[in-house]
Amino acid sequence: MDKIIRTITSDGTVMAVAIDSSDLVYTAQQLHHTSPVATAALGRLLTGASIMGTLLKKEDAALTLKINGGGPLGSVVAIADEKGNVRGYVDHPEVDLPLAPNGKLAVGEAVGRNGRLSVVRDLGEGEPYVGQVEITSGEIAEDITSYYATSEQIPTVCALGVLVNRETGKTMLAGGLLIQLLPGADEATISKLEKNVASLEPVTTMLAKGMDAHAMCLRALEGFEVEVLDSYPVSYVCTCSKDRVKNALSTLPPEEVEHLADENGVMEAHCQYCNHSYTFTKEELQQLADQLRQNKKQA
Ligand SMILES: [Zn+2]
Repeated sequence: MDKIIRTITSDGTVMAVAIDSSDLVYTAQQLHHTSPVATAALGRLLTGASIMGTLLKKEDAALTLKINGGGPLGSVVAIADEKGNVRGYVDHPEVDLPLAPNGKLAVGEAVGRNGRLSVVRDLGEGEPYVGQVEITSGEIAEDITSYYATSEQIPTVCALGVLVNRETGKTMLAGGLLIQLLPGADEATISKLEKNVASLEPVTTMLAKGMDAHAMCLRALEGFEVEVLDSYPVSYVCTCSKDRVKNALSTLPPEEVEHLADENGVMEAHCQYCNHSYTFTKEELQQLADQLRQNKKQA
């Protein structure tokens, strides 16, 4: 079971959040049949969204990350709730690219570097807050760092990693770490933290050594007195249901709804987040159209 943990230095000036997202990225890969590079891109975005979701600190809040840099993957989207549970998709999960010259998966190239990362924070009341930042590298962690620096003016270090087995194409390890400097941090704190960050190993290396999310936070905040804010299990969770599809269909004009069935007399609605299909028969669609007409009359 994946786990996320939020920690803070006892003087309250540095926060570190870490996640082991290996299982949820594996689930995403199984659901979307992603190529290795698509797994890495979607996995990193899901991991980043999960961490950022837990920073919303409000019940029923949601955070959406969307990145599109004009690369062959198209858009990559991840949505997290305030507990860090996530779902997402990539437009072209089958796209694969040769490894980058450094031997790593070419995530930046697959995402593209000509576009934006957008962050939508929906706190469940009023208009959602939308922030955007130009893509820095398309490697996602750097783009999230850049978002916090430019859009929220919070000095942030973000590291995300997905390790895919070269032979099987399956996800082996995934995780993330986000460190933020909070108001009140003095020079000594900053320089100590900079040293820690400079010597941090990649997230998947730490996970491979058997470090869990808590251990990663302690490593990031080495030399500080650290308190745990909270910690909970996270997973890949889709919120779709037949009722939700029905609600979406109810926004269409009734004359459109009654003609949605194909030549076999059914309509298939497909959830892009979990690939589940919902079937509506011609009769069900007619019933819905009639109900919509009825509602209109009463309104
Ligand atoms: Zn779904």
